[in-house]
Amino acid sequence: PYTYNPCSAKERAREFALEAMAEDLQRLEALPGNYYNFHPGAHVGQGADVGIQMIVDTLCQVMFEGQQTTVLLETMAGKGTEVGRSFEELACIIEGVAAKCPELSDKLGVCLDTCHVSDAGYDIIHDLDGVLDEFDRVVGIDRLHAVHINDSKNPCGAHKDRHECIGKGYLGNEEFGGGMQVMQNIVSNGRLCSLPFILETPNELAGYAAEIRLLRSLQQ
Ligand SMILES: [Zn+2]
Repeated sequence: PYTYNPCSAKERAREFALEAMAEDLQRLEALPGNYYNFHPGAHVGQGADVGIQMIVDTLCQVMFEGQQTTVLLETMAGKGTEVGRSFEELACIIEGVAAKCPELSDKLGVCLDTCHVSDAGYDIIHDLDGVLDEFDRVVGIDRLHAVHINDSKNPCGAHKDRHECIGKGYLGNEEFGGGMQVMQNIVSNGRLCSLPFILETPNELAGYAAEIRLLRSLQQ
């Protein structure tokens, strides 16, 4: 559900996000124990604080006590007016929900997208552990439940959000200053390796099979 925006300036768009998320979370009760990942949204010029408050309000309305699904906020690249471009913004959403609806707090977490965090300016090429330390300090590592493992078509800090196949972009390719060692560090990191990793490229089965084989061969 990447197309909706719970912090749109248009009321109808916010209502659509609310209805879609509420329905999804109700339906997911038939498949208990899943993660429900979403892009927090774009504040479209209203300011990050307003956007964060709208996202908090939406989450407090669509989540419910005793739900068996964990809702994950995805780390964003910071393209345009995206909310969730920094660990601080994600922490504000989580703290906002915890303050308003404490009973929902333990069902809220984060999915780290490797392309997005690099595009957002976190240097996972040279200092993955430093970035995870910062995540732990700001959000808490126990909130991290999943990884979207993508390479990036753009350098660290570009604020673009263009995924690339593993090994062909700025993270995994030496031509751009990265390398397979970067991917190896990600899939072998002690704080990440037990989490589910989701591929969002290359979009066809043979390509997925090749990337899965590659990543498994790298894992130490
Ligand atoms: Zn993603």
